Amino acid sequence: MTAPAHPAPTGITGTTAMSDTLFARAGQVIPGGVNSPVRAFGSVGGTPVFMASAQGPYLTDTDGNQYVDLICSWGPMILGHRHPAVMDAVRAALAKGTSFGTATEGEIALAEEITSRVAPVERVRLVTSGTEATMSAIRLARGFTGRTKIVKFAGCYHGHVDALLAAAGSGLATFALPDTPGVTGAQAGDTIVLPYNDLAAVEKAFAEQGGDIACVITEAAPGNMGAVPPLPGFNQGLADLCRRHGALYISDEVMTGFRAARDGWYGRDGVAADLFTYGKVMGGGFPAAAFGGRADVMEHLAPAGPVYQAGTLAGNPVATAAGLATLRHCTDDVYDRLETVAATIGSHVSSALAAEGVDHQLQYSGTMFSVFFASAPVTDYDAVRATEAHRYRAFFHAMLRQGVYLPPSPFEAWFVSASHDDRAVDRVLSALPAAAKAAAAAEAA
Ligand code: PLP
Repeated sequence: MTAPAHPAPTGITGTTAMSDTLFARAGQVIPGGVNSPVRAFGSVGGTPVFMASAQGPYLTDTDGNQYVDLICSWGPMILGHRHPAVMDAVRAALAKGTSFGTATEGEIALAEEITSRVAPVERVRLVTSGTEATMSAIRLARGFTGRTKIVKFAGCYHGHVDALLAAAGSGLATFALPDTPGVTGAQAGDTIVLPYNDLAAVEKAFAEQGGDIACVITEAAPGNMGAVPPLPGFNQGLADLCRRHGALYISDEVMTGFRAARDGWYGRDGVAADLFTYGKVMGGGFPAAAFGGRADVMEHLAPAGPVYQAGTLAGNPVATAAGLATLRHCTDDVYDRLETVAATIGSHVSSALAAEGVDHQLQYSGTMFSVFFASAPVTDYDAVRATEAHRYRAFFHAMLRQGVYLPPSPFEAWFVSASHDDRAVDRVLSALPAAAKAAAAAEAA
């Protein structure tokens, strides 16, 4: 599919003076000047760019610079910015009111859209963030099994849930924090952290503590330590071990859900989790997320069952409308376009770096991808941390100067949208040779 062309961006003004001023002002009232650590340029250096508007595959900053957007709001903007159908749905919802604190029909429609896409999801509870989804899923797993311990994997990020901040990816990887002050030993003490892609370690944990393990939670295909896909059989092995030991298998699809395929990563590996968590795409750019799964497990949630969970803005009508419109426009053509764009950009990144003789690995978790400066495939968090991050810093800034906005961290995935037309892709490709040269010349600090 050839995506419709968007107006050509006017490009780069050459100044970031307004972003500099705003960042100085932000630092006076917002810790670190940003409201989510990954937005800071902590691991690449320099001043974060303040965006003012977006259209299709482009972001425009406060100085008028236009960038091809390769983060897509970290996943939600799968159709591109200001998709007409999503904007219409939001306007129609807004006209009726912004929040009622009662049940609404749109919530049912969104839940039905999810259950119709993912067969093992029989019941859905809507929440407002991915963090809430994973936190609630874990509480439910503990309530359902009557067990306390949970298993997670180093480098997987599941939001800023206290018990899940041990050896997490995303911002914690970016800032090299092993975990965070403020999480008590009691909160993290029931979390067993294992190396990713190591089924033998999971078997051992179950052999030693199986009777206490409530659940295993994993990113369906990790993007939060960069793209590190599960090795063949890893997810199925987790599901099998959980089943054998009476624990629940939680597949965190906050990133991959409805992005990796119309039914998420489940559509790729077919591994039926007991519970799934979702966010990002299903909110269409608004705060909406969900968890869902087996009816007998989900029916333990209040008010049907005893496990408490609630939210003032859960199922918010505007967010629900945006999410529903987004999902309904995620057609086969959209997924084809994501594949094409991700493969085209990825292969050109690789050939540009190869032309400069730079060791690298281009890795995909579905249509999310990232480049690691390493000489062998990266399959776990230790390997991620051993990559040459200084080369990414140089690569990132060279791309930014040429009008391409990449994740400001070597430990995050790149996201594309169906609105990335050939012109936007060409602009990325033409920036690559200079960025590859910068990566080749980069010296470790
Ligand atoms: N789970 C995964 C896999 C994520 O990637 C994220 C966020 O990036 C979360 C959970 C948390 O979602 P949120 O940032 O909406 O709280």
